[in-house]
Amino acid sequence: MKVLVINAGSSSIKYQFFTMATERVIAKGLVERIGEPQGRVVQEVDGQKREHRLPIANHSAAFQVIVRELMEGESPVIKSKDEIEAVGHRVVHGGEAFKASVRITEAVLKAIRARVPLAPLHNPPNLSGIEAAQALLPDVPHVAVFDTAFHQEMPPTAFMYALPYELYEQDRIRRYGFHGTSHAYVSRRAAAMLGRLVEHFRCITCHLGNGCSMAAVRDGHSVDTSMGLTPLEGLVMGTRSGDLDPAITFHLASVKGLDLGEINSILNRESGLLGLSGLSNDMRSVTEAAAGGHARAKLALDVFAYRIKKYIGSYLAVLGGAEAIVFTGGIGENNGAMRAAATTGLEELGVKIDAEKNAKARGEADVSAADSRVKILVVPTNEELVIARDTAEIAGK
Ligand code: ADP
Repeated sequence: MKVLVINAGSSSIKYQFFTMATERVIAKGLVERIGEPQGRVVQEVDGQKREHRLPIANHSAAFQVIVRELMEGESPVIKSKDEIEAVGHRVVHGGEAFKASVRITEAVLKAIRARVPLAPLHNPPNLSGIEAAQALLPDVPHVAVFDTAFHQEMPPTAFMYALPYELYEQDRIRRYGFHGTSHAYVSRRAAAMLGRLVEHFRCITCHLGNGCSMAAVRDGHSVDTSMGLTPLEGLVMGTRSGDLDPAITFHLASVKGLDLGEINSILNRESGLLGLSGLSNDMRSVTEAAAGGHARAKLALDVFAYRIKKYIGSYLAVLGGAEAIVFTGGIGENNGAMRAAATTGLEELGVKIDAEKNAKARGEADVSAADSRVKILVVPTNEELVIARDTAEIAGK
């Protein structure tokens, strides 16, 4: 079966086209600057990248561009759109309605639409992507894979905020968690790497990218996670603050006279690595500046690592010990210094990193010292593969 995986954002669509027999990516690409006067398309086939520019009015036009690229690009990978046998869609917020991936029906679309208030930035473009794809490929199965699904087994003790209970009953205000596809994938890979069954395995997964989140995973299910009602809670991120005293928002309003939009922008777009360093949201830039003696860049790295360490400690307590701590995402996979900073000092808790292995790690790697009770692993994430697998399985039913 050949499966197209779609990740639709507000002004861009990322895609990967898989042949499931070998799980090989035949083509992948990005359509961006949708709605701007000049859009951009990049497609990669067999390591060869091709880029061109053209106006792309909306998601519907973008999806047509994707199918045309697959059919007519410099190295066409399909002869007709009929070769796309199923489409998998990343959907950020499934609320409490979805514990697993599902085939998209009218009822599923309605349920995703109903969660727009919970994810106003993410669900609307996800919906646009689904509608565009269904319009062009009406006869194939479309499958929704939710960022929230893996966390839906969390117990109420972990997902309830200590707010008036009616806010949960009436407005569904609770912890949902995100990056679920990534946490699920790397926790399963980690168990496999250690020769363990995921059904009897406890680990702490750290997804550190532009957005960052951690999960405590027991026996194949997330039992706690750092992101909350929205992806703002938890770790320090590129531009997001992560955890803070909620009263800071009232303080910003009353003392500085800021309105809700301005406060939202500070917490989501001007904080994190960018806010602390004053330089950049990008870990590489902040790391370079810190190495050159920039004090605030150094502070940003320290706060970032300290927050991860606090969550490791808390999730070791939640799980009553763990077999592994797993790092993934652009930072988790590539930044050994950050892995070391986040785990150093936890030796008494059985966590001991091997400096040499950690510095050399490429791809999947065990970077823990031989006598570390808790293994420290690096696992490159592959959310698209999980979406493709779920899609093929559901489409095949
Ligand atoms: P997203 O969450 O948008 O998918 P990524 O997972 O690619 O983002 O993570 C982006 C972050 O990873 C950035 O802070 C970037 O600096 C960092 N990063 C990516 N590649 C590397 C690398 N080779 N070395 C160090 N940091 C990297």
